[in-house]
Amino acid sequence: MLIWSKYYMKRCLLCDQEKPEEEFGINHAMRDGLMPYCRNCYNEKKRRLSYIDPHYAELNRKYGRAWFKEARRTILYRLGGKCVVCGFDDERALQVDHINGGGLKEMRETNHYRFCKKLLTLPEEELKQQYQLLCANHNMIKKVEKKEHPFKDGVAISRQPKRLSVK
Ligand SMILES: [Zn+2]
Ligand SMILES: [Zn+2]
Repeated sequence: MLIWSKYYMKRCLLCDQEKPEEEFGINHAMRDGLMPYCRNCYNEKKRRLSYIDPHYAELNRKYGRAWFKEARRTILYRLGGKCVVCGFDDERALQVDHINGGGLKEMRETNHYRFCKKLLTLPEEELKQQYQLLCANHNMIKKVEKKEHPFKDGVAISRQPKRLSVK
């Protein structure tokens, strides 16, 4: 028998089951306002945190991956979901670009988690003043043009072949 749920269905990133939205905790930072994992999985994680458990490390890694996956999706969505130059929209090759440069400096001063948190919580207007989406190609082209990448004339300096001595 099929029972139609009046709720929106969402797939849990940990147990991979589709469940009604009420099975997910609230998380306003995320695109759909919900946690990326169901309450069951979340409680399981919390329970395993409370004592030494060989499965904990694995679960914690899974949990972290799920968080980053959902955070990335949400960040791409907040930034318009496509390359601002060419409109390319395959999320696998979209990258967050610091409009005014300074990306390397920021990454040195923060870590990936804090950086994601910042992009999730920054007010939309501020976010869009500082960051934009570029596809991998346009991101690389910008880096070469702005000399933010150790490339010269499109060739990685460190990998430049030694000049053969010509006699
Ligand atoms: Zn689950
Ligand atoms: Zn592009």
